Amino acid sequence: MRNSSLMHYHLGLTIFSLFPGVFVFLITHHWYWLVMTVVLVNILGLFRTSIFLSLAFHVLKPMAGILGGEGFAAEEMVITLGSKKTLQKLGGSIPAERILLLLPHCLQRHDCDRRITFNPYNCIRCGGCPVGSLLDLAERTGVKIAIATGGTLARRHIKDLRPLAVVAVACPRDLGQGMLDAHPVPVAGVENARPAGDCIDTTVDVCAVEETINRLTYHVEKNLENPLREDDSFFP
Ligand code: SF4
Repeated sequence: MRNSSLMHYHLGLTIFSLFPGVFVFLITHHWYWLVMTVVLVNILGLFRTSIFLSLAFHVLKPMAGILGGEGFAAEEMVITLGSKKTLQKLGGSIPAERILLLLPHCLQRHDCDRRITFNPYNCIRCGGCPVGSLLDLAERTGVKIAIATGGTLARRHIKDLRPLAVVAVACPRDLGQGMLDAHPVPVAGVENARPAGDCIDTTVDVCAVEETINRLTYHVEKNLENPLREDDSFFP
């Protein structure tokens, strides 16, 4: 768990809760009802993360813009906490064939002429970019794989393939927004690396993708050996 993501989450909820808090204060004229509203929203946020994560994101995002903040703190918050919730709730329970590995088109080398958007298996796995290794990984683990050029195509893949969970690779901006858009389909995110800049010749840690898939996948042997899942201290 990244502490800064958790801090941003509760900061967003606290700012959001000031609106109903002030309203309650104006009615009751008791400041402690304002405090109680803030505390209550933060406690509810621990139990209903999906809804409150979206609220915190939409409060923090414009604030970061107004304050001139750089980076993607709001998106990082969604990626870290959303992925954690997905893995904690569903880890070890999804059949591989119901997991969708969703990749961004920018992983493909910019001068590759293979048309992989509608059929990733058109890739001849030349080793020029991570797409070949990710196809190997999809075959080895049994998950479905799809490539999206943007949010619209990503949503269409999810609608058509009807996965129980998605392992998504993307940049923080697309991944954070995409994880919220995919709701109620749970997503575990893996951020890509952008050594050549945004949206071109990006890459990803294939081992991190494999580990995420393995944590989600239902393994008969693993469940016989260890029927109890790893406990989690944050999400109930
Ligand atoms: S592995 Fe080679 S063929 Fe496949 S998408 Fe990348 S560059 Fe193209």
